[in-house]
Amino acid sequence: MGRTVIRNARLFPATGAEAAIGDLVVEGERIVSAGGAPAQIRGDDTVIEAAGLFCMPGMTEGHAHLSFENVCATEDLITPSPETQVFAAARGARALIEAGFTSAYGASEAKLKLAVAVRDEVNAGRLPGPRIRAGGLEISVTGAMGDESKAHNPRVGPSTIVDGVEEMRRAVRLHCREGVDNIKLDVSGDPFYPSTPAHTTPMTFEEIRVAAETAHAYGRKINAHTRSIEGSKHCVRAGVDGLFHTEYADAELLDMMEEAKDRIFVVPTVGLFAQIMAGEASAHGLTPEVGGYMNIPELLENSIRTHTELRKRGIRHLIGGDYGFGWSQQGTQGRDLAFFVDHYGYSPAEALACATRNGGMAMGYDDLGTLEAGKLADLILVDGDPLADMSVLAGPQKVVFVMKGGAVQKSTLVAQAGAGTPVLQAAE
Ligand SMILES: [Zn+2]
Repeated sequence: MGRTVIRNARLFPATGAEAAIGDLVVEGERIVSAGGAPAQIRGDDTVIEAAGLFCMPGMTEGHAHLSFENVCATEDLITPSPETQVFAAARGARALIEAGFTSAYGASEAKLKLAVAVRDEVNAGRLPGPRIRAGGLEISVTGAMGDESKAHNPRVGPSTIVDGVEEMRRAVRLHCREGVDNIKLDVSGDPFYPSTPAHTTPMTFEEIRVAAETAHAYGRKINAHTRSIEGSKHCVRAGVDGLFHTEYADAELLDMMEEAKDRIFVVPTVGLFAQIMAGEASAHGLTPEVGGYMNIPELLENSIRTHTELRKRGIRHLIGGDYGFGWSQQGTQGRDLAFFVDHYGYSPAEALACATRNGGMAMGYDDLGTLEAGKLADLILVDGDPLADMSVLAGPQKVVFVMKGGAVQKSTLVAQAGAGTPVLQAAE
């Protein structure tokens, strides 16, 4: 099979080097060269004339809920059957790849095996989608986030409920048996569950430690919903890989996270709260006023303070998380980039590196997430300059070409008239 030669694109390698005009060559599933001397064209190459286009690594959604689609209440997660929801998960995967997300680091799903099933279909080439580390159910404890039961009305919620280390061990093993890649614990409370607000920590250290040990024993990753200071400290001490939200922090926690920065990833998932306070969820009853009662302004203030400090300390942040609600479509996760710049103090190039290089590392690869010779060819072409205007990555419209492992996933490029070898260019 011939190579793909992308010519005269503005290459953003996500290595720390500046973006520069150059050629990029893909052969098989890997990048052969990125920048440097102009590529020599061979007879069986496919050439993309990419002058004016921005070429960057594919992005990673750092906290994926593939099966969330128009969710307005937990009932929307609980009531539909797995058979119905697997279609939503497949649509979520397609929306991500079309928006330039070539990887999805799973948080949790509405049912146990939705992301597992979609991952396997995507890997078999039967469905469009990113590389997927499949999440399963959230694992929580009695009375905490996701426990929808009452003594007079026992019912199934969106989480699996365990108490004590033996139940925890069994739940994690069951997730591993069913093919889940990413275990997720609900360590802290949450503003959507008033009896356990965000600063509370219903799960014990022992439960978290056993969950982490078990997940790692099966070669899986473990992540945590953790907004509270104590919960986040438990997670770092217990060996949790991914910390989600992490709004509250004190000096000790910041030091602990800095010390652990080469083994943990942190996903602020700021979109949901920012959207509520911007009034974007008002049509669904979640007005800024309701957000005020839920203490969301304080959570946002703490998010800005904590993640700005974590940025300075070199923490590996990822973008995305908690998209798929009634007011936030799958595939718009790139909106987080602007928040990273405006509120956490990242430069646009650094924010893009969170979305790409950090994402590739979180996915568990050492050859993913940058444009360099030898790396996997997960890359996108953007009709616009994200470094000047991050909104070009806020949806699929400006993402004109997506490649994953050297295979074309999306292309709105058109053939150039009269060219000998296949030459593609952006549509007018
Ligand atoms: Zn989430």
